[in-house]
This record gives sequence, structure tokens and C-alpha cells, in this order.
Amino acid sequence: ATSSDEKAAALSTTPSDSPTIFDKIISKEIPSNIVYEDEKALAFRDISPQAPTHIIIIPKVKDGLTRLSNAEERHVEILGHLLYIAKLVAKQESLDNGFRIVINDGPLGCQSVYHLHVHLLGGRQMNWPPG
Ligand code: AMP
Repeated sequence: ATSSDEKAAALSTTPSDSPTIFDKIISKEIPSNIVYEDEKALAFRDISPQAPTHIIIIPKVKDGLTRLSNAEERHVEILGHLLYIAKLVAKQESLDNGFRIVINDGPLGCQSVYHLHVHLLGGRQMNWPPG
């Protein structure tokens, strides 16, 4: 998929608290390439990678955390946990010279799946500003 496909997907998605495809990945109803798992979180390869390494890190229990802008005080621990896992997976993927973490929020942020997730991107030089 091109970045314009990603944008089209994001703009055609209505933000909601409905189940998403990530629930089926967590329950293993649909296959994914899992690179890390613990009791609270799961990390798997993005199906449409935007870099040589592109991994999605999610909480196993959504608990209302559809998007970062819906975060509440009770989510502080899982939010920290997801970032720490990003660091562990970056190490596991040998991204020793750097990487990028992205959280897309809402239509303007190009979010397409309403189950909070952290993108870990690496293996190439990133650009700034992002698109
Ligand atoms: P976002 O645009 O931030 O909501 O990111 C959602 C990401 O999930 C996109 O990068 C998609 O490529 C990815 N994605 C969607 N469905 C799957 C799937 N079945 N397996 C792996 N990644 C997926």
C-alpha cells in the first residue's frame, strides 16, 4: 500500500470504540507475525511496512484506549509499558543506530485502527518533518 492508500483508509474510518482487527490478532483468529508478547501487550509486524522494520505494539485489553486523545489517568501504566516494549523490540531487531516511534491520533493524525498502537519504524534513515 502507498502512503496515499494509508491516508485514504484513515480518512474513511470513523473513530469509534467498536472492536477492530487488532482484537482478532490478539485472539489469534487471524494470523500475524508476532515478535513480542507478554500478559499485557503484543507486538507484531505491520502488514504494510513503511520501513525495513515496522512493528505495531498494542495493549491486549483496550479498556477505552481507542486513541491517545482518549487516555485517562488509569492508562498511564500501560502507556509506559508500550514504550518500554518498543525499546525492547528495537533492541531485538538490532536497531542500534536509532529508530522512530509514532502514535497516530484521529483523522488528522491518519489513524486507521481505533485500538491505540505504537508504531516502531527502523532500518532506514527517517526524514523530518514527517508527511
Ligand atoms: P494507523 O494508521 O496508525 O491506525 O495504523 C494502523 C496500522 O495497522 C497500519 O500501518 C496498517 O498497515 C496496520 N495493519 C492493519 N491491519 C493489519 C493486520 N491485519 N496485520 C498487521 N498490521 C495491520
